Amino acid sequence: MERLSDPRKTIEIIKKYGFTFQKKFGQNFLIDEHVIRKIIAAAGVTKTDFVLEIGPGIGTLTQYLSEAAREVTAVEIDRKLLPILDETLDGCDNVQIVNADILKVDLKTLADEKNGGKPIKVVANLPYYITTPIIMALFESHVPVENITVMVQKEVAERMKARPGTKDYGALSLAVQYYAEPYLAANVPLNCFIPRPNVDSAVIRLTRHVEPPVYVEDERLLFGIIRASFNQRRKTLLNGLRNFDGIKADKEQILEAFKMSGIPENVRGETLDLGGFAKLANALTRLGIS
Ligand code: SAM
Repeated sequence: MERLSDPRKTIEIIKKYGFTFQKKFGQNFLIDEHVIRKIIAAAGVTKTDFVLEIGPGIGTLTQYLSEAAREVTAVEIDRKLLPILDETLDGCDNVQIVNADILKVDLKTLADEKNGGKPIKVVANLPYYITTPIIMALFESHVPVENITVMVQKEVAERMKARPGTKDYGALSLAVQYYAEPYLAANVPLNCFIPRPNVDSAVIRLTRHVEPPVYVEDERLLFGIIRASFNQRRKTLLNGLRNFDGIKADKEQILEAFKMSGIPENVRGETLDLGGFAKLANALTRLGIS
């Protein structure tokens, strides 16, 4: 099978099957071999790896993954793509297509069955409308993951890797960095896709920490504080926490927790690093707040 990274081949297949792109599924197919090779290199895929691909589309990235990996499972929601994948992945015997919504697949069982429970690699040109739910589901649901290497909206990649005190820093930066080490592998322009998306893209690799970089007694409280802090960006952290229903603490208790963790009263969430949020969460826990 000729490579679909050749735009002429992609157009030919699309015409042959009368396929119409569905915006609601975030369908923008890659047509650039250089970008595909960069994704696979950033993920470090080798012949010993099992790879989960999210949204294979017509199989463009899948063709290369099949060559690079031991085995690939590709989960695609759009059943109209199934006959196309039959043709484009003909001969790729190590690829299994699952027709499902990725958010409804039991990925832990999949990793157990396909990789003996060992950490898997996740590679995708993601449907942008569900980038954050997909990534958070992978981290939070205890799927053993070594790294997630994905094409996302450039702006989202910047938020994921942002450091405290910068304009892109927020709840997403903290959530991602609690679980993983982000690395921006490539910026990808609009003309690498059919159809062209409206936004620039980037490839980001998230390497799962073996242990989170900070210790927290109550993860739920940590993420509650983070949400409270960035819900009201212009407020001080103290006021953000006081107005947040998810935390049952009064002003004195919050001030006491600030003192215990060495955080100034007038601090704004956007300047506090993950270590600071963790200290504050642990202080609140010690005060009996949950
Ligand atoms: N991998 C292909 C490529 O790079 O050319 C296609 C990438 S396209 C940006 C995203 C793909 O994800 C589409 O094929 C779309 O149908 C699929 N998709 C969208 N929502 C999905 C979901 N909830 N579960 C699984 N696949 C989904």
